[in-house]
Amino acid sequence: MKTKFSILLFLVTIYSFGQKEDITTALYETYEKYKEPSLDKRRIKHHDLQPLIAQYEQNPKFTVKVVGRSIEGRDLSLVSIGEGTTNVYLWSQMHGNEPTATQAIFDIFKFFASDDFETEKKAILKNLRIHFLPMLNPDGAEVFQRRNRLGIDINRDALRLQSPESRTLKRVRDSLQADFGFNLHDQSTYYNAERTEKPATISYLAPAYNYEKEINEVRGNAMKVIVFMNNIIQKYAPGQVAKYNDDFEPRAFGDNIQKWGTSTILIESGGYANDVEKQEIRKLNYVSILSAIYTIAKGNYADIPITDYEKIPENDRKLFDLKITNATYELLDKPYVLDIGINRLEVDIEDSTEFWYSSRIIDQGDLSTYYGYEAFDATGYTIKPGKVYTEHFKSLQQMSDQGKDPISLLKSGYTYVRIANIPKEQLSSPFPVHMISSTYEVPEFNIEVGLNPTFLLEKNGVVKYAVINGFFIDFESGKGVFENAMIYR
Ligand SMILES: [Zn+2]
Repeated sequence: MKTKFSILLFLVTIYSFGQKEDITTALYETYEKYKEPSLDKRRIKHHDLQPLIAQYEQNPKFTVKVVGRSIEGRDLSLVSIGEGTTNVYLWSQMHGNEPTATQAIFDIFKFFASDDFETEKKAILKNLRIHFLPMLNPDGAEVFQRRNRLGIDINRDALRLQSPESRTLKRVRDSLQADFGFNLHDQSTYYNAERTEKPATISYLAPAYNYEKEINEVRGNAMKVIVFMNNIIQKYAPGQVAKYNDDFEPRAFGDNIQKWGTSTILIESGGYANDVEKQEIRKLNYVSILSAIYTIAKGNYADIPITDYEKIPENDRKLFDLKITNATYELLDKPYVLDIGINRLEVDIEDSTEFWYSSRIIDQGDLSTYYGYEAFDATGYTIKPGKVYTEHFKSLQQMSDQGKDPISLLKSGYTYVRIANIPKEQLSSPFPVHMISSTYEVPEFNIEVGLNPTFLLEKNGVVKYAVINGFFIDFESGKGVFENAMIYR
């Protein structure tokens, strides 16, 4: 009995020791504790960050310095931590609509402010001094756009340095002579790992510093850290990593910072199924960046073979939000077979973290080399246009008072309802049925690139599915019902 107990104790000890060594697993499992709760939407603004930065300014573990200002005068703050001699520099959101890593940086601050992971933190802070410049393009973030207030792409301003944001990024790099740089971006959710249906949830690049794409020690170290991070992401999002084409871009920051002697790692946060606000990807950023910082502090990355970098699949752009295959489409009384690729495009709402969808047909024809986050094989189904409901309503209220249920309208083949008084502030229909004004004339039905995807799928005279504003609705299961069709006034 005693022996059995000792063996068990021994096994438990080995197990917990193993756990302790694996900082990545521990970071992943305890993440919720460090997630900064105020930053859970992609459309975060500069003013959302300021109270948090002020809070860390009061914390003796951190140094906060205003190192520059945007064109519109917003502070660019550098937050530093650690006493080591190796300088690590991380900057995010030089493109205003790419916030995922900014959120992760504030999670990392919360991690360093806590009293947990004492041993690991000691190793990190003794060896490194880490500098964060979150939201380099606050003017762009204000209106959720890529470019800055001058209308330029900061990532093409590394040589000309016309924007104060660009000058700040370079001045800080030069003053630190940073050993490692993390250039943090978001990419389109429509990127995939080449020739697979897997989204490129994370894409990496160790940018080239010349046209010859040579690999010196500086770039080689960036590749090693990328291989290390790739192995982490593979654990939580298998197959969902890609690498960017490494053609030299002489105007870009990543390429130049690599050239200036800082091992530069570009991280692009892409898409992940059913993660519209990219909060799972934010978590993966937190876990992988902190783990990378740890491995840089320990020097463990040095033994990683550079050849593994080449094994990461290329980034491709072959995903749709919804892909319909093999649907029968009747044109001038003749049947044709079509695949249809549909994306749900976001429309910003001014001064809001919310948005609505106005979807588009992106491509049609043989789309067999493309993939969908959502896919439906429509073999045997015929595309049919929806009708305008015969009864007119004065208001939304009247419609609901009369017990008109949008799904039963859809089932009867109606995809539009006429409403006389559509409130001005109403941006989209709150049903899966389009709202049209008393005078609006629905254009002749067509399946065409650029149009809003709205049609029914019929088999043997029965309508079984609908695509409304790019959302796929299954009548039988009720799956896919959503609250965002279009308004046509
Ligand atoms: Zn970017």
